[in-house]
Amino acid sequence: MPRALVTGAAGFIGSHLSELLLDRGISVIGMDNLLTGDLSNIEHLAGRDFVFVKHDVTSFIHVPGPLDLVFHFASPASPIDYLRVPIQTLKVGSLGTHHALGLAKEKNARFLLASTSEVYGDPLVHPQREDYWGNVNPVGPRGVYDEAKRFSEAMTMAYHRVHGVQTRIVRIFNTFGPRMRVEDGRAIPAFLSQALRNEDVTVFGDGSQTRSLCYVSDLVDGIFRLMASDVVDPVNIGNPHEMTIRQLAEQIIALTGSRSRIVEKALPVDDPKVRQPDITRARTLLGWEPKVALAEGLSRTLEYFKRKLGVS
Ligand code: UDP
Repeated sequence: MPRALVTGAAGFIGSHLSELLLDRGISVIGMDNLLTGDLSNIEHLAGRDFVFVKHDVTSFIHVPGPLDLVFHFASPASPIDYLRVPIQTLKVGSLGTHHALGLAKEKNARFLLASTSEVYGDPLVHPQREDYWGNVNPVGPRGVYDEAKRFSEAMTMAYHRVHGVQTRIVRIFNTFGPRMRVEDGRAIPAFLSQALRNEDVTVFGDGSQTRSLCYVSDLVDGIFRLMASDVVDPVNIGNPHEMTIRQLAEQIIALTGSRSRIVEKALPVDDPKVRQPDITRARTLLGWEPKVALAEGLSRTLEYFKRKLGVS
């Protein structure tokens, strides 16, 4: 049975990925320092071929025994997190990626980096193709995440070129689903929890900025396909269905039947004005296509938030 390490396994995407790997007959070591991850995301995996190790990957990673696959997902990923823990965000992207790559080299394991659409920054090319180099402010508050991920992509390619490590890079666009934290701060968890509590729904700026939202089961399916492929160049995985943040807020208020009203708050510094993945590469090289429509994904996520908030 193949063995995989998932760093960030107690996080939102890491936990869904661990579950998918187990379903495909892969034994999983889940690692997390629980800075933004939560054990409740993985407690249902107890009794399966899953071992949890509490460890901060910015320190040397030791995994006894053979290892076939390394999925490097550890990182704060919400704008409010990387404003709160900017140095940890830089360290996990740099030192953490170095350690995870070193482990993959030592074990002769295949390595997949969780990168991000944030490498494109506030993009001047739309939709974003993988050959666009981006428009990132290195010294702005988001720079800690964007530059850490850009560095981690460069480090991954260096390990591929210098040491011949089999590497993969996925650029993850906005993703949502169950196990996002209620206080995560990103748009969907914020709007859902505000709407369920009949509180004001906080749209930043005038809400004309756009995002394209992918349901988590589609995302982890794409990630698994990428790991199984021979594609070394970065691949965007995301849903190209683009909408404004105001439209998203309105859809969530309608879905929940909430009495909430939309209020405008200050737009965060360097907030990208548009974002949409060009997924030609994933379509043609991985045969991947998102399947879950926004409305369906939102209903599934709503059920999770109702349980978490104790709302019926
Ligand atoms: N946003 C918002 N209200 C919120 C949270 C986020 O209007 O309570 C906006 C945010 O400014 C951005 C978009 O929603 O334009 C998506 O933000 P998110 O934090 O989900 O992810 P990002 O794509 O910025 O990393």
